[in-house]
Amino acid sequence: MSLSDEHVEEADDALVRRAEVLFGKRFGRPPRWIVAAPGRVNLIGEHVDYNDGYVLPMAIERHVVIAADRPQASDEDAESKISLFSTALRETADFAPHDDTPSEQPTWHDYVRGVVAECRAAGLEAGPLDVVIDSSVPLGGGLSSSAALEVATATLLEAVSGDTLDPLAKALLCQQAEHRFAGVPCGIMDQFSITFGQRDHLMLLDCRTRQIEQVPMSEGDISVLVINSNVHHELTGGEYAERRRQCEVAASRLKVESLRDVSPAALAAAEDRLDATHLRRARHVVSEIARTAAAAEEVAAGDWVSAGRRMLESHVSLRDDYEVSCSELDLLVDLASRNLGQGIFGSRMTGGGFGGCTVTLAEARRVDELATAIARDYERETGITPSWFTTRPAAGTRILRESG
Ligand code: ADP
Ligand code: MG
Repeated sequence: MSLSDEHVEEADDALVRRAEVLFGKRFGRPPRWIVAAPGRVNLIGEHVDYNDGYVLPMAIERHVVIAADRPQASDEDAESKISLFSTALRETADFAPHDDTPSEQPTWHDYVRGVVAECRAAGLEAGPLDVVIDSSVPLGGGLSSSAALEVATATLLEAVSGDTLDPLAKALLCQQAEHRFAGVPCGIMDQFSITFGQRDHLMLLDCRTRQIEQVPMSEGDISVLVINSNVHHELTGGEYAERRRQCEVAASRLKVESLRDVSPAALAAAEDRLDATHLRRARHVVSEIARTAAAAEEVAAGDWVSAGRRMLESHVSLRDDYEVSCSELDLLVDLASRNLGQGIFGSRMTGGGFGGCTVTLAEARRVDELATAIARDYERETGITPSWFTTRPAAGTRILRESG
């Protein structure tokens, strides 16, 4: 069973209505353009993007929605600016459309400014705009609100200019904006999942070749549960950079360009070339790349039991070999695992680690009841209230209204 087109249109209608109300409240007229871009979650393939591996993300039914119009001719002050209001932050900001110097201390509007600048370099002029940014993607929760904001901005500029960007160029210019204007050296997964996401599909992305394979997840009775641990452990040791370095060292000792070039069997045969820490790091990466490729096939075949088992293996590997989990994420995965075979197929931490979210594959008809129980037990043990939602793989960025 697959979700019907009407279902998607209804969801889009709700986004349009909300954006209209919010824009109307602020500017007293309806918006001329409305666009949406989803957040994303990675089902499996963690800490492998910078090792040229595979990731298996999907767009989620949570969106950044942007409503916009030209400023009114009577408002001379606004006539030469792009004026932003973010409902999530309850903050305004404005800048000139041709202002393309990165800030020394980037803040939220630099994500928008960066995309406007990169679009301009690609030949798309924004001109002055009144903009309301609404969002149901939690900010900073590992579900990629940043890339959703970037891609939504690029989609808005397509609507405004009447020009279309090549989708690959669009995803890459958003990534470039995040690098140059937000100062975050992110990979390609976020912008790709949000640009190329397809309803009812996961996306197997080869981070080496940038090739995408759409993996159908057509059975509607499977649900993806995202639980936010609502903890974020600040680490002083530069853990992310350290893991990257350790992977590079392991690759160079194994005399390969990246760990993508090592099979699990080849790693087992070359164990004596690495010390204990580098071996564990490499073992995670090499096994995770193999697991991700296998999980994509299992999802396509509707083999949820096997795909779920891979997710649990991924979590153990991230916890023990890569050492990027934390007690709260382990607890959430453990609580989900207690219902294996009873509505839950698999669960794991998702994102960089040390807090943030878990992703869980579950039966749609039981998922709400299971999530409620997991959240209750988590709160009882930690004193922290988690947040959660369920989703199906959603469509990527789109224009919901364009006029004139
Ligand atoms: P994630 O992408 O996982 O949500 P990031 O730290 O990469 O976390 O990006 C979050 C940042 O993106 C926010 O702190 C803010 O600067 C910006 N951002 C995302 N969504 C919005 C929004 N709706 N309004 C304003 N800023 C936003
Ligand atoms: Mg981000």
